[in-house]
Amino acid sequence: MDYKKLADMLFPNITKTIDDFEKLFPERNLEEGAMVTRLAPSPTGFIHLGNLYGAFVDERLARQSNGIFMLRIEDTDDKRKVEGAIEIIISSLEYFGLKFDEGVSLDGEIGNYGPYYQSNRVEIYQTVAKYLVEQGRAYPCFCSEEELAEIRKQQEARKLTPGYYGEWAKDRDLSLEEIKKRLDNGESFVLRFKSMGSEDRKFEIEDVIRGTLSMPENFQDIVLLKTNGIPTYHFAHVVDDHFMRVTHVVRGEEWLSTLPIHYELFKTLNWKLPIYCHTAHMMKIDNGVKRKLSKRKDPEMGLSYYMELGYFPQAVREYLLTILNSNFEEWRMANPNSSIEEFNFSLNKMSTSGALFDLDKLNDVSKEVLVRIPVEEIFDFLLEWAKKYKNEIEPLLLENKDSVIKLLSIGRDSNKPRKDLIYCEQIFDFISYYFDEYFKMVDPYPENIGEEEAKIILKEYLKTYDHNDDQSQWFEKIRVISEQNGYAAKPKDYKKNPELYKGHVGDVSTVIRLAIVGRASSPDVWEIQQILGEEKVRERVQKAIGE
Ligand code: GLU
Repeated sequence: MDYKKLADMLFPNITKTIDDFEKLFPERNLEEGAMVTRLAPSPTGFIHLGNLYGAFVDERLARQSNGIFMLRIEDTDDKRKVEGAIEIIISSLEYFGLKFDEGVSLDGEIGNYGPYYQSNRVEIYQTVAKYLVEQGRAYPCFCSEEELAEIRKQQEARKLTPGYYGEWAKDRDLSLEEIKKRLDNGESFVLRFKSMGSEDRKFEIEDVIRGTLSMPENFQDIVLLKTNGIPTYHFAHVVDDHFMRVTHVVRGEEWLSTLPIHYELFKTLNWKLPIYCHTAHMMKIDNGVKRKLSKRKDPEMGLSYYMELGYFPQAVREYLLTILNSNFEEWRMANPNSSIEEFNFSLNKMSTSGALFDLDKLNDVSKEVLVRIPVEEIFDFLLEWAKKYKNEIEPLLLENKDSVIKLLSIGRDSNKPRKDLIYCEQIFDFISYYFDEYFKMVDPYPENIGEEEAKIILKEYLKTYDHNDDQSQWFEKIRVISEQNGYAAKPKDYKKNPELYKGHVGDVSTVIRLAIVGRASSPDVWEIQQILGEEKVRERVQKAIGE
């Protein structure tokens, strides 16, 4: 067979050669050890935790080595394209502090290794495809869906591996004349790779996260170009990561099973393999059972979930590092005040058995991280979040900025600071009692205190309340009210002789706390009262008395 002739017949418009592109996209001139990584999402508009997890690995590797982190858009599947998806991808990642050095950006494409949209790289793919045809390693396949289904049926009946390979690959050996005839007839075809692999042979490949893998060779004549001349993922991955001079391919473990295809393609083209890093699936514990996080079932899989609730990017980044690198938490304990940029992220400290994602743990990490963020910064972030997701509270926050900052500051200065703040929605809820329009009685009075009894306590409180009392004078008065009404002034007295009392000073304080903030637990009530101001305090207590 004259492969050269076949190649010209199939790709009459392709005049460039692989060499032309080798020259156009030369080896990058970066410092020794610099890593070039890429995020390669499809523009479906849905960007999830798995993408962020992988992107974070890409970003750390590039940053730590003074390399390049790029964004390539895998838009070869028209059906999955969604308007505005690129904006969503870029802005979501930016929210979490991930910025690209190269590739698709909101102001066009940046860099010399583009185009960075796969749909604009067709000439490059077809040039490589043409080369493979010339080498006798790719061929047109005219099989219809029906024919392929028939092949599969026969393979199933004979309990053979399904697929297009070996003797089943009917169009492998079509003659040039036959091909010409069918092309002249206008028949559509896909371009298939002619595999030289064998089902019975294995090869070894290094994955930085997983170690040395021993895998069966690829033996399938996979599709390189679809009927419309657009590449499949497998072909595009190999061509793009080669010409974009990517050094590290970080991608989800769902791609592991097709790695033999990519390996054979790289070898056939005589190109250097990138270093593969297959990340583990994101898992969660659901009713005691560990399972994969699902885009459909788990709202926390979507990045919008965190943006809508107003999680702080610093907190999410820190949490991701705790699941990405097993030694991160230890490092954090030893370096409580360092920036996470100083942590030396490494691929071989990554889990291979599933990255367990736990919202409670994220919230705990967030509490710790927020203690380190200055309150003014928390306020600014809260305000930005409100503008986007809860604009009715924006004026309230603006008008009461000083008070809100004071409320958020209560108990943070001590050496055992309060850790109440997690994410914006929760933070607003946490301070919402301050605003009359959001104040509500969330918790009931203590069990041992009925409505009427509570009113008696609150009337006493109002009578003796002096806004100028300092904290100890204020509390002393609560002790007096307690004693006068049959409650122990000290919890330990009550514990010793519970039969002598109706309860203790803690119950009385709770009644007061409920009247002021509407909940049974809160930061220090005296401090809150100072921020609310005398008038509001009296109004709240009066309202709780209700007469
Ligand atoms: N478009 C592929 C995906 O979103 C990219 C996989 C890769 O990183 O190679 O899964």
